[in-house]
Amino acid sequence: MVILGAGPAGLVLGNVLLAAGVDCVILERADRARLAARPRAGFLAPNTVRVLDRHRLAEGLHRHGREHAACEFRTEDGSFRLDYGARGRGERHTVYPQHLLVGDLLAHFQQNGGQVRFGVEALAVLDTRTSRPRVTARRADGPPETWQARYVAGCDGRHGAARRSLPPGAFRHHRYDHGVSWLGLLAEAPPSLDAVGYAVHPNGFAGHMARTSSVTRYYLQTGRGGSPEDWSEARIWRELELRMRAAEHGPLHHGPIVQRTLVDFESDVIEPLRHGSLFLAGDAASLLCPAAAKGANLAVLEAELLAEALVADLLHGEAGGLATYSERCLRYIWRAQEFSHWMVRLLHAAPGDEAGAPFHDALRRSRLDSLRSSRSHQDWFAEHYVGV
Ligand code: FAD
Repeated sequence: MVILGAGPAGLVLGNVLLAAGVDCVILERADRARLAARPRAGFLAPNTVRVLDRHRLAEGLHRHGREHAACEFRTEDGSFRLDYGARGRGERHTVYPQHLLVGDLLAHFQQNGGQVRFGVEALAVLDTRTSRPRVTARRADGPPETWQARYVAGCDGRHGAARRSLPPGAFRHHRYDHGVSWLGLLAEAPPSLDAVGYAVHPNGFAGHMARTSSVTRYYLQTGRGGSPEDWSEARIWRELELRMRAAEHGPLHHGPIVQRTLVDFESDVIEPLRHGSLFLAGDAASLLCPAAAKGANLAVLEAELLAEALVADLLHGEAGGLATYSERCLRYIWRAQEFSHWMVRLLHAAPGDEAGAPFHDALRRSRLDSLRSSRSHQDWFAEHYVGV
């Protein structure tokens, strides 16, 4: 089994396969240091924790992660707090930075004899219509390599080789551009709220999410086409204080900004997730904008489903799980896409040039009002916010 990519999807898949006795290798373009230093997600859903628990991969997150169960919305119509952990099914997130989880999964895989080839970039997956697919790859300064296996798992993200290798006409690519961009920031500063902060302001959205006791993720909505370098530290903190209405709710804890990333809000889904002997999982299968924090959680869910189906096929000759893998994942993917889309509409004013923008803006305020006052709407939110 060849797995492309050592992110959450590839590493969960690799660990479950290895524990079951399936021979596998992971090809990863980045080097080890870079892989373990890419802070992205942080909010793990209860189902993600259950999956990791089932496969004894959750030791680090139980030791260092923190439970999280509240959002605070700050808007032009006032602020309100939603204790989602006390609504819906009463479930909570665990906050544990993605790069620490990736570090744990990698250590576990290698300690159990798993092979990761760092610095190897997959170029193409060939012969996917046969039972001996091949992966062509290159290593910086090295000769071209070819890997062959019974199956290939494309866990190499949106711009990886797996997607590129799908023959035109063999799949549908659903795409949506939300017309919104965020500047994702990491500040070496303690969280300023004991909740996720969502601020809607005439200057644009601002967000606050705890990561650890000394690191906080912030987001600022920006115009399209800018550069992170346009944002000095002074400008970032000025805009965060303004949009999060610090004058009214209390100041933010400042600290050095150690990461600035521009994220254009685009969502997409590849359908189906299987092409012969090639399977897609994680961001390679579907990209979600980060407004609802679903991407890493879906990646883990899909990796477990794929691993179980592969084990059934390779060790027990039962191909049913692989046959339904795509269909089962797509149900989760579209539900996550639907909630993410709803969150984007909740948190951003409609672009001024969009037809009916004032109407959409009035709808947005009404949605927030409903979330503030309707217990059944809060239950619905809680269930979808922590669920995948
Ligand atoms: P990745 O983590 O992208 O891993 C893919 C791996 O494949 C990488 O290591 C890459 O180097 C490697 N690779 C790529 N191309 C090749 C190639 N050709 N050959 C070999 N290797 C290759 N999700 C949440 O659930 N909660 C959150 O709070 C959250 N916050 C986010 C915040 C930000 C700023 C961003 C950008 C994303 C966030 N996400 C969040 C989304 C989440 O990070 C992704 O959905 C998740 O990383 C997907 O995991 P993956 O394993 O599919 O892909």
